Amino acid sequence: MNIVEADPKDMSVGYGGLPNEDGIVELDSCCMHGPSSNAGSVASIRDIKLPSRVAQLVLKRTDHVMLVGEGARRFALAHGMKAENLLTDAARRKWLKWKENLSDKDDWLSPKEAETGHEARPTGTITCLGLNPAGELSGVTSTSGLAYKIPGRIGDSPIIGAGLYVDNDVGACGATGRGEAVIISCGSRIVVENMRHGMSPEAAVKDVLKRIVKQTVDPRLLDKKGRPDFEVVLYALHKDGRHAAGSIYKGRQYAVNEGGESKLLDCVHLLDR
Ligand code: ASP
Repeated sequence: MNIVEADPKDMSVGYGGLPNEDGIVELDSCCMHGPSSNAGSVASIRDIKLPSRVAQLVLKRTDHVMLVGEGARRFALAHGMKAENLLTDAARRKWLKWKENLSDKDDWLSPKEAETGHEARPTGTITCLGLNPAGELSGVTSTSGLAYKIPGRIGDSPIIGAGLYVDNDVGACGATGRGEAVIISCGSRIVVENMRHGMSPEAAVKDVLKRIVKQTVDPRLLDKKGRPDFEVVLYALHKDGRHAAGSIYKGRQYAVNEGGESKLLDCVHLLDR
């Protein structure tokens, strides 16, 4: 997790992540430890390269679960982390292009509006779930969230029960994609509850994806066929080692390592594009 967070080339998490609408990088992360049923989380944290480390410190070194904004930043500094500018030049250029193309009625003019056009809002999160030989489960998420978000916007990734949930007796689940849909569906928690009641990881993620599709009724969020115009991916790991990931639309993959070589597996899906 920390390797990708520190990588300036990855624009979805940590250093080099795409900024909010003001051009400031704000990061979300959480972690949950199955054996102790304890969790730590930071949201909208600025200037700190490795938010998942701060989330782990919230778990280990406080009596709280979640710290946000300036409080989270000061907590990280108190633990010796450095404040750094997380906005790389490449991310700044992408943000500027988005800002310049926002509207032809504002004061920001792009060099060649006709040529550049609008880009889809980039997203991206890392969810990592682990099961050790002792049968202990853990999980961690990290993201710079929705690119160009309203400052202070928090997605699902730092919210226990939404972007991540771990129950050492049952299994773990994490999510990527449209955070608002994952928060409203309490996605990861419901996947784990589904497995508790006997569903396979595959059936558990599909059930929650169906609920998300059903809950999506606002025309603003629907494509021409009346289906969600966004993606959600849910990753489930059962305590017995079975796993699955599911996406609303076909074409996603997830990475697995069961001791040997890592491999990419196809997600199950609900709909074809
Ligand atoms: N789930 C993240 C969020 O809403 C974004 C993503 O996974 O792409 O902040």
